[in-house]
Amino acid sequence: MSAEPEVDAIREQVARLHAELTRYGLVVWTAGNVSARVPGRELMVIKPSGVDYDDLTPDRMVVCDLDGRSVTGDLAPSSDCAAHAYVYRAMPEVGGVVHTHSTYASAWAARGEPIPCVLTAMADEFGGEIPIGPFALIGGDDIGKGIVSTLSRHRSPAVLMRNHGVFTIGRTARAAVKAAVMCEDVARTVHIARQLGEPVAIAPEDVDALYDRYQNVYGQPEAPQRRS
Ligand SMILES: [Zn+2]
Repeated sequence: MSAEPEVDAIREQVARLHAELTRYGLVVWTAGNVSARVPGRELMVIKPSGVDYDDLTPDRMVVCDLDGRSVTGDLAPSSDCAAHAYVYRAMPEVGGVVHTHSTYASAWAARGEPIPCVLTAMADEFGGEIPIGPFALIGGDDIGKGIVSTLSRHRSPAVLMRNHGVFTIGRTARAAVKAAVMCEDVARTVHIARQLGEPVAIAPEDVDALYDRYQNVYGQPEAPQRRS
């Protein structure tokens, strides 16, 4: 651990949030990762590469600059570090990024098909369809560019990168984890709905009304962070 309390607090938060990925069944083996921006600093904290989920303690989290380079001599960062760093550079409002290969969402990604907005929960959280991003090879900035270019054109905090899996963003890392959990949930439900017929679309004005209510009214007024 460092002598920097604000960095250590983010290490603890990021370590703890990884347990949500296993709790909700979004990851297998060592796949998937969560990162968080260190507020006010040109730094992020991300999962180390290839470490078992049971061993993801705060001291094993990796502190990187926003070019994706480890700055504290920790373990090697996640192989998706460059993509996370690209998102933080391009989207200053983003405080957290999550990546999974969760099963149902990745099945939509494998078909290159966006998840249509056919559930009120989708309108609430995603404000419309969950879009497909381009095919991109790991390494370099291609994945990051694909995430940013796709999410810049949608209200959705989740993108299905074609033939790959899910990337989500949030104002906080917790919000990005929530988007990853909700993305898999609706991917599963809409997939099941498809087995029995064609799901019914929600009218665009109703999607707008649901999204506005959920983003601005829903939750505990005295504790707005619970919405995330
Ligand atoms: Zn991946």
